[in-house]
Amino acid sequence: MSVAVGSRFARELPEMAIPWRAEEFPAPMVLVLNEQLARDLGFDPAQLRTDEGARLLTGNLVPEGAAPVAQAYSGHQFGWYSPRLGDGRALLIGELTRPGGGLVDLHLKGSGPTPFARGGDGFAALAPMLREHLISEAMHALNIPTTRSLAVTTTGGNIHRSGLQSAAVLARIASSHLRVGSFQYAAATGDSDLLRRLTDHAIDRHHPAAASAENTYLALLDSVIRRQAELIAAWMHVGFIHGVMNTDNMTISGETIDFGPCAFMDAFDPQTVFSSIDETGRYAYRNQPLVAEWNLARFAESLLPLLAQDQEEAVKLAEASLGRFREHYSATWTQGMRAKLGLPGRTPADAATVADAPQPAPDEASTLIADLFPILQAHAVDYTSFFRALSAAARGDEEPVRSLVAGAGADDTDIDGWLRRWRTAGPDPALMDRTNPVYVPRNHLVEEALEAATTGDLDPFTRLLDLVTSPYTERPGAQRYAAPAPEGFGPYRTFCGT
Ligand code: AMP
Ligand code: MG
Repeated sequence: MSVAVGSRFARELPEMAIPWRAEEFPAPMVLVLNEQLARDLGFDPAQLRTDEGARLLTGNLVPEGAAPVAQAYSGHQFGWYSPRLGDGRALLIGELTRPGGGLVDLHLKGSGPTPFARGGDGFAALAPMLREHLISEAMHALNIPTTRSLAVTTTGGNIHRSGLQSAAVLARIASSHLRVGSFQYAAATGDSDLLRRLTDHAIDRHHPAAASAENTYLALLDSVIRRQAELIAAWMHVGFIHGVMNTDNMTISGETIDFGPCAFMDAFDPQTVFSSIDETGRYAYRNQPLVAEWNLARFAESLLPLLAQDQEEAVKLAEASLGRFREHYSATWTQGMRAKLGLPGRTPADAATVADAPQPAPDEASTLIADLFPILQAHAVDYTSFFRALSAAARGDEEPVRSLVAGAGADDTDIDGWLRRWRTAGPDPALMDRTNPVYVPRNHLVEEALEAATTGDLDPFTRLLDLVTSPYTERPGAQRYAAPAPEGFGPYRTFCGT
């Protein structure tokens, strides 16, 4: 393979990296390859499809320069602290240099048990790896920061998961795999040199501007808080529910990571929880900003020794920084909701150019946003379809919106009043079409595609992947992919991706 792989994490942070090799697999075969991403990274897709490529994508061929490691991290799982999690079934192969510059991790999931396996078998079943491929690529197409999937490769072996299932390895590309839990791990060792090295590594890779700030480490904290606030707001805009927002599943880069029990909301209900193990609804849709803030407090705690010599002073700085999460989250969320409704705020800079366009008074958009959610909830309206149908309403055809709201059986007077007020505000349908997707990985479609894929028919998966990776373009003949789940589907349950 012509692509150079580095071992920067392994070299700079050996205390958090156990050198390890993947299981020898009987017959690796590339099932799904992300050709565009492969090319973007400098790979030749045809070469990745060969036996040699399949061995690379399962860790059976270690590229020159790579020093595969299992990464150590801690984490709060559903609020409970585990001092030693780490890659139980994953390996960091090393870092690739993007042709345009900048490092990304090449990481394998399902590559066999490591010293962090804690009784798990170290493997992954095909369906959950295809699920991660599909959903992470859909997120990317929705312009939401996320890890990417380069390939899903079957190993040729079977594993036990409610019967025998094909095993597979996901090759994941990420800006890095540094997590809040990585910092919790380093902080818990009490080794201040390790914590500083980890933090400098994170700044260099993800937040380089922090290096020149007056208080470098506080600037890192601020920057991570901002990116996470923006990330969670973006999830909320598309109805994405991560499902397992443990601190080991929250990145320092601001990318979405670990697509286990995640799912997109169908009917709007802020209490929606899909994960079968989330019994208390800790990670319900509406709780996501609060949980992110809680996780970031764990990040801030880990950084305390670096924020100031005096720990009281450090706590004050951390609290002030954490206090800015809500502000930034709310501002980003509101801006995104305004775009979804086609009512972008007018900044002083565009005031001159759009002086003639009808603009709502600043608080009219906020009132419209606030008044909309009770309607969506009362009528159990399909979240994705509603916003897309609004474009037609902005162009004068209110029928699609009405049928979604009235279809739930309740009286529709409140939507009529809302639509009248909203149309008076002069929504921009072209902006809405660029903002509100037609296609997201709807739960019933994902299940249908994965079921077919596990019995050897990859066509429904390929078709769905094709649509959700161009989510804003309506395609002829694809109406069923844009439609709400059929009556009788659900309640939908997801499982941690093992
Ligand atoms: P996750 O829920 O995917 O974020 O995983 C949480 C922890 O469990 C991580 O330390 C994983 O490496 C580990 N883990 C999950 N599934 C397995 C498995 N089948 N074998 C070994 N470790 C696993
Ligand atoms: Mg994880």
